[in-house]
Amino acid sequence: MSCQNAIEHTRILSHSMRLLEQLEQQDLVEAGKRLHDFAAELYPICRSITGPGIRQTLNLIQRRIPLTVTEVPSGTPVFDWKVPKEWHICDAYIKDASGRRVVDFQRSSLEVLNYSTPVHCKMPLRELRSHLFTLPEYPDWIPYRTSYYKENWGFCLSHNKLLGLPDGDYEVCIDSTLKDGHLVYGECYLKGESRDEVLFSCHVCHPSLANDNLSGLTVAAALAELLSGQDLRYSYRFLFIPGTIGAITWLAQNRETIGSIRHGLVLTGIGDQGGFHYKKSRVGNAEIDRAATNALQHSGEPSEVLEFTPYGYDERQYCSLGFNLPVGCLMRSVWGTFPEYHTSADNLDFIKPVQLARSLRLCATIIDVLENNRQFRNLKPFCEPQLGKYGLYRSIGGQSINSEINAQLWVLNLSDSEHSLLDIAERSGLPFIVVADAAQRLVDAGLLAVSVERNAASSFVSAVQS
Ligand SMILES: [Zn+2]
Repeated sequence: MSCQNAIEHTRILSHSMRLLEQLEQQDLVEAGKRLHDFAAELYPICRSITGPGIRQTLNLIQRRIPLTVTEVPSGTPVFDWKVPKEWHICDAYIKDASGRRVVDFQRSSLEVLNYSTPVHCKMPLRELRSHLFTLPEYPDWIPYRTSYYKENWGFCLSHNKLLGLPDGDYEVCIDSTLKDGHLVYGECYLKGESRDEVLFSCHVCHPSLANDNLSGLTVAAALAELLSGQDLRYSYRFLFIPGTIGAITWLAQNRETIGSIRHGLVLTGIGDQGGFHYKKSRVGNAEIDRAATNALQHSGEPSEVLEFTPYGYDERQYCSLGFNLPVGCLMRSVWGTFPEYHTSADNLDFIKPVQLARSLRLCATIIDVLENNRQFRNLKPFCEPQLGKYGLYRSIGGQSINSEINAQLWVLNLSDSEHSLLDIAERSGLPFIVVADAAQRLVDAGLLAVSVERNAASSFVSAVQS
């Protein structure tokens, strides 16, 4: 092995980080319980796109991972939008003639129309009705409703409760303020060897909803915790932001950072019992799309890969025409397709500890692909090397080959410095990690070397060479 190869060899080993292996050493049930406990801690908080709920949420995340909190003043122009006012709410209720609270914000943060302007008056039920939101098709559930961009006030309640309200006057109170303040978001940046970044983004603006916001948030925080202190190839950026306006604001304020984003994933709705759905980036065949697809195909869980659509979560902003970032979206059940979506039934029972832990493992598998994907050069390209000489082949002939030998043959055959390990995994139909392990064995045997990459994206390798 030449001196150059020896250097390359060491570098590969130092970057053969396997996040999934580390997670698999933890008990799945125990890991799931930790995620679910964090969701339970966050669940009662009345979050919105601005205000104390989101600050409190960021504070709780900050206890687990290093988080930079940025405050952007109301009125700041962000592309075609403006940073909205800050919403504070102390109390909200509807009292019947006897003074009993029939609708009560103290019971659930969902019982008020999120972002409601203040009101305090008496009014008859027939007048109040236009400010009441229910779900007749699920009469025991409370809907989640917002009015961010048109000032309004209102309450959300179960349809059965509404049916039980007698006519007459009610005392209506929303003790809130909507004033100039700040939009806040949290950012956790983990520096890797390369300045090239992997972006994870999740929204943290929904009140007491578990799958929609808390599942993505808890898994993202656990992932950041896991990655801290690791020897990373890429740098990682985790965004905890209010949906839509948060992503728009972050993009408007971080134009220089955006050029470093090589791969990205929006995490949302990953705690329910459904199978996985991965929505591709607008690019469609970006490395993140392919890494997620390979990870899902071999995850042993039901999964489906969806084409990009310009509607959904914050991938809408990252994949907007002007940015076109390689950012996909990982979900379990797709938002809007299950009845619990945006209702009080999206509660802590709706998300399952083991499903959260499995989602974390899937994210780890995807990171393993990104961290370990590179091109190699076969050092003995003329005919197959005699693998048995290197201890890489079975000693008894006649049996069919196993997947380890098969993977080695694929890696040798396609390692022309052009095909990446992910290309090889796709073409062979093997899990990425089986291919990467085969490459590692071939490197160890001196049959394979990491190729000196030419493209600008691989600043990691150029850094190694210098
Ligand atoms: Zn939502």
